[in-house]
Amino acid sequence: MLAFPVLPTRPGRHRRLTLTASGKVNLALEVLGKRADGYHELATVMQTIDLADRLTLEDADELALTTTSAEVPANADNLALRAAGALREAAKVDRGVRVRLDKRIPVAAGLGGGSSDAAAVLLGLNRLWGLRWPLARLAEVAVTLGMDVPFFLRGGLALGTGRGERLTPIPGTPLALVLVNPGEPLSTAAVYGRVTPAMYSDGGRARTMTEALRARKPTRVAASLYNGLEAAAMGVRPDLVRMRAALVAAGALGAAMSGSGPTVFGVARSFEQARQIRARLARASWGCWAVRTVSGPAVRMRAA
Ligand code: ATP
Repeated sequence: MLAFPVLPTRPGRHRRLTLTASGKVNLALEVLGKRADGYHELATVMQTIDLADRLTLEDADELALTTTSAEVPANADNLALRAAGALREAAKVDRGVRVRLDKRIPVAAGLGGGSSDAAAVLLGLNRLWGLRWPLARLAEVAVTLGMDVPFFLRGGLALGTGRGERLTPIPGTPLALVLVNPGEPLSTAAVYGRVTPAMYSDGGRARTMTEALRARKPTRVAASLYNGLEAAAMGVRPDLVRMRAALVAAGALGAAMSGSGPTVFGVARSFEQARQIRARLARASWGCWAVRTVSGPAVRMRAA
């Protein structure tokens, strides 16, 4: 897969692009409090991973989408098409796009798949429609689609504050992870709805994680994993406790939930060990992946 800087810059030359859109894990996620606008104030360390959706964008007159997944809407509600519609309106273009979406990232899983698809469409259409918008301008559209979407415009490793959309890139270290997903979605709104002030913290855990990443020590990263939404999510899905314990019993250095769940991930010593842990955990009812973190862009594209 070629990274997008190698694409020809002449706008309109390529009428079709293929893209990969990486998911993310939250190495740390703290809820600091509730804001006047109804959102929660967060401090979160987000990291892209190499589990990715695939998209094809083709220049068209209308907005249309087909998808391999029965779990996401195949209409204007799909985040990929909402992104296209929002950019079309913001840029005042009268062109459309046909999106083919091959979902590989589990849906409503805490891995940000829909947000990454939306970012991929913004970046792809910026190229396909020849807009040449800088990332900062695309980010203004991204944040109207979801608080995680701005992160995926760049990807890599970042500290997110505010509602998670104020981003500061941070230095990190490559990690091998094992993801475990129970195979059923968990609503982000349902989890945030169960958050109580007792679950708030002060941002210290995100700072500790930032320092562990800077020290480039997977053992320290594993010891610093934290998710302040776990208690709220476990109220809806008590089996998360078992998933997290199973990861540690199978050899993970440490484990935590990602985002608002239900995916739980563990840190391994190496990718080889991650594969061994995955093999130990693979059961019919759980989806398991051994993945690597991605330090470069979350979205990669090439002309097709
Ligand atoms: P986050 O970590 O950003 O909270 P998530 O991984 O928990 O996200 P998503 O997979 O992004 O959740 O999906 C959230 C909801 O959005 C689901 O209910 C799903 O039906 C809807 N949705 C719309 N379009 C998409 C898409 N392209 N991919 C995934 N979900 C989508």
